[in-house]
Amino acid sequence: MSSDNRNRARAVKMILMDVDGTLTDGTLIVLPDGEELKSYHVRDGMGILMAHLAGFKTGLITGKTSRALTFRAERLRIQEVHQGVLNKQKILDEILGRHGLTKAEVAFIGDDLGDLPVLKRVGLAAAVADAHPRVKEHSHYLCRLAGGKGAVREFLEFIFEAQDKWSEIQEKLGDLTGIKV
Ligand SMILES: [Mg+2]
Repeated sequence: MSSDNRNRARAVKMILMDVDGTLTDGTLIVLPDGEELKSYHVRDGMGILMAHLAGFKTGLITGKTSRALTFRAERLRIQEVHQGVLNKQKILDEILGRHGLTKAEVAFIGDDLGDLPVLKRVGLAAAVADAHPRVKEHSHYLCRLAGGKGAVREFLEFIFEAQDKWSEIQEKLGDLTGIKV
């Protein structure tokens, strides 16, 4: 990985994520009542928990809405959860203002064209392995893993590595009991 990406990762204080196709593999199972089932990867959840232990803030920005996602985001204590978002750029600006962060201090990971307005603005942008070619083109970090298959965890670990966070994370993980991922 280029040293430029490592430098970008060093500045990161908050990690924002797309959901469908990024935290999931993009599959939607639509039930007769209109509810949609999706599956999430446990290692991504663990990665988000580790990010919080290491002092990072996290957030989700998604065009869809799901009660299951609300539940999962609460369980993982994700600070910024924005569902049903059509204008992702506007939400990014709001989040920056609320947390007093610059764009260089924010990382984002996504998979599809709707993510471009955010992807192009943040300090460190990542694309899952099976992202749209245009998304890859505008990303600094290209994941080896696909959406819903641990790509988010891979990206988080790249940031942890760049900021030398491993010993802190391991120490704090040892203190946790009964956590739910
Ligand atoms: Mg997506």
